[in-house]
Amino acid sequence: MLHAPSADQDPNDRLIDRFGRHITYVRLSVTDRCDLRCVYCMAEDMNFLPRAQVLTLEEVARLGRCFSELGVTKLRITGGEPLVRRNVLWLFEQLGALPGIRDLTLTTNGTQLPRYAAALKAAGVTRINISLDSLKPERFRAITRKGELAQTLAGVDAARAAGFARIKLNCVMLKHRNHDEATDLVRFAVDRGLDISFIEEMPLGVIGDHDRAEAYYSSDEIRRDLAERLELIPTTESTGGPSRYWRIAGTDTRVGFISPHSHNFCGDCNRVRVTAEGRLLLCLGQEFSTDLRRTLRAHPGDDGRVKQAIRAAMSIKPRGHDFDLTEQPIIFRHMNATGG
Ligand code: SAM
Ligand code: SF4
Repeated sequence: MLHAPSADQDPNDRLIDRFGRHITYVRLSVTDRCDLRCVYCMAEDMNFLPRAQVLTLEEVARLGRCFSELGVTKLRITGGEPLVRRNVLWLFEQLGALPGIRDLTLTTNGTQLPRYAAALKAAGVTRINISLDSLKPERFRAITRKGELAQTLAGVDAARAAGFARIKLNCVMLKHRNHDEATDLVRFAVDRGLDISFIEEMPLGVIGDHDRAEAYYSSDEIRRDLAERLELIPTTESTGGPSRYWRIAGTDTRVGFISPHSHNFCGDCNRVRVTAEGRLLLCLGQEFSTDLRRTLRAHPGDDGRVKQAIRAAMSIKPRGHDFDLTEQPIIFRHMNATGG
């Protein structure tokens, strides 16, 4: 996807990869830690990164500035659970003040939103995605291993009360765990004026007690289940991410499907990720990466060097991912370390 540069931007300072894809969207992970342990994301006993290996918030803010000067217009803050990082609000305030950033978004499990939602809105966050896989407290607990449904629901309410528009629920659907709840989750979203996306599980990291091939439930199966009880209208809408959207007739709710297995979305990929340790990942499903932490720390005060490293990395962005649920993962990092 090629876009014309804005008038005040140097056309050489755009991020374009070997396949002509224009990178305008960056997901920044601010921690690999989390207050939950979702079965598809983490092992039960995780070793988290030592603090010195994690980027400081100042370093993340500096990266945000560099990316915005390279034509990036959308930043998503993710993790791990971003809202468990101490002083994270400061980071949102810095990023929210960057002139080139039109969309500053957050992916969260919602548990800390009652505390933070209003302040995030004031800091300039434009949209929030909240992960919610079940509306049944015991199931929610089983999938997250330690979560309280009521706490995440209070987070959804807090985000609505703070005035966020187009809040989106993210649901990872797992066969025999929650696949039968798709319709209830959509009705929950419709009743509250929210959007909702269903995500096919991706094989990131080894998780001993969870069989991914057995748990696989495709987007097409979910859509078929929904269509039995709800009227779905196809749309061509996009929020700049990998979701394909339908609308629920007579409502404002969009239902998205993120389908890395059944509908590969790599052809129009416009994004890259930065892990909590400052590794620039060129693809979610491949290991191609550049160590930005080393550049940040070797050249304090010289953003030119950081931008040069980011620009150079565009030449190693691969054509696409190579996920296979029946094989042991070729990607050994878990989603919390990747920045979902
Ligand atoms: N903690 C936050 C949350 O849960 O929303 C942000 C980080 S989490 C890694 C981001 C998203 O990745 C969540 O929607 C989560 O459901 C999804 N996710 C985690 N592991 C996944 C996997 N193996 N396959 C697909 N999606 C996954
Ligand atoms: Fe935590 Fe989000 Fe991973 Fe669940 S999906 S364990 S909430 S980082």
